[in-house]
Amino acid sequence: MRKNIVAGNWKMNKNLQEGVELAKELNEALKNKTVNCDVVIGTPFIHLASVVNSVDTTRIGVAAQNCADKESGAYTGEVSAAMVASTGAKYVILGHSERRAYYHETPELLKEKVKLALANGLTPIFCIGEVLEEREANKHFEVVKSQVEESLFELSPEDFSKIVLAYEPVWAIGTGKTATADQAQEIHAFIRKTLAGQYGQEIADNTSILYGGSCNAGNAKELFSNPDVDGGLIGGASLGVDKFMPIIEAF
Ligand code: PEP
Repeated sequence: MRKNIVAGNWKMNKNLQEGVELAKELNEALKNKTVNCDVVIGTPFIHLASVVNSVDTTRIGVAAQNCADKESGAYTGEVSAAMVASTGAKYVILGHSERRAYYHETPELLKEKVKLALANGLTPIFCIGEVLEEREANKHFEVVKSQVEESLFELSPEDFSKIVLAYEPVWAIGTGKTATADQAQEIHAFIRKTLAGQYGQEIADNTSILYGGSCNAGNAKELFSNPDVDGGLIGGASLGVDKFMPIIEAF
């Protein structure tokens, strides 16, 4: 059966020392605690190796927030999936709306990143979600459907089974606006139905679909209580243990 997952996305925050400190604090907070979800933290590239060495990786998975669409070679400034994996990180966030919007990441490019992530044993946390105008024009269903179709539906069933999805309405990211629990359930159920149409009900039922967008201690419980919401991708509220732990404990 699918896993519940609470994943933090630190984005471009915290220097190395601050990041290691935050990871250690989270590790300490989780020690001797039973939680009902997998916990992941998505750090900047330069933090990965140090964070992996600072936490109990059987309790906290570590994620990169991106990887290159090429295997290796003359791509100055890029970091490959193999390099990410060599740090001990187990996940990579791909297709985040900030990367799609600010770095012009296309469905085709994301397809390559997903393939390389999987080839290097990383679990992609693949983000999809509509912008406000699309929601207002009632196009959110078709938008998320195309996003999964265009970047993921050429994967074999075996490879697709390794993907975690994160539905993140762009209008809710960092804005303080959250999808209501009903809005989240409605679109998560639609996404699962779309997956079932391509890969069958069993694979769809086993895919974790996280919600992201201003999720916090106050709304996590209600969002996560929906049958098709399997956890959260958390930006701002993952930057402090006091804010992140209550979200983990919402399960
Ligand atoms: C995110 O960036 O993935 C996110 C959900 O951010 P926030 O929680 O800050 O809205």
